[in-house]
Amino acid sequence: MLAADRFAANLARVRARIHAAAQAAGRNEQQVTLVGASKGQPAAAVAVALAAGLGHFGENYVQDALPKMAEVAQGLVAGSAVPTWHFIGALQANKTRAVAENFAWVHAVDRLHIAQRLAQQRPFHAPPLNVCVQVHVGGEASKGGVEAAALPGLLAAIAALPRLQLRGLMCLPPPEHDPQRQRYWLRQLRELFESVNAAGAGLDTLSMGMSADLEAAVQEGATLVRIGTDLFGPRG
Ligand SMILES: *Cc1c(COP(=O)(O)O)cnc(C)c1O
Repeated sequence: MLAADRFAANLARVRARIHAAAQAAGRNEQQVTLVGASKGQPAAAVAVALAAGLGHFGENYVQDALPKMAEVAQGLVAGSAVPTWHFIGALQANKTRAVAENFAWVHAVDRLHIAQRLAQQRPFHAPPLNVCVQVHVGGEASKGGVEAAALPGLLAAIAALPRLQLRGLMCLPPPEHDPQRQRYWLRQLRELFESVNAAGAGLDTLSMGMSADLEAAVQEGATLVRIGTDLFGPRG
């Protein structure tokens, strides 16, 4: 069970790291949205985090996320903050409806087919679903993402779909210990972000940075970081 004081200390530490990294890069920490990666954590941990002032949560597995989201919603009392849910996992075609109906954001779209399904399945009464495209950064075969050469075409096709708001790029770079190596991979995504925006893509979100490379990501321009372990502790 995640104690409220333990979580508050973790949150303060993560926010201080974002602040320091932003300052070192001449950026404003307000430009960085903190998403708590709550996979493997119970609804009670999300409730603790919400009460401590964290508003954004990222989930990886639809079947774990839906009951957790319902439980969190049931626990909300009048006047309490409402969580914004991000789907940050790999998305299979047979799970798109659940994501389209229940999440505000999806971060790892890497094929047009998936985006088309999300566009068809997003309920008309809901605001547009915020979409980031995952880019394959680093050579690891196990990681998803569109190759850089195919990115402009995919972005143009997704931008033409209804019910979606194309927001940005996301990556899962190879794990590195050396901050310079971390920054090397993250810089690939930032440079792509700048180049597609120079060509008119109009993206505003650079989704990169986890517990181990938070500072490197903020220094390379992340506008949204996804932090699990350093907020919630080890996953259950
Ligand atoms: C689990 C996860 C994170 C958070 O990872 P930590 O190292 O625990 O901070 C971020 N992004 C994605 C896509 C994840 O699956």
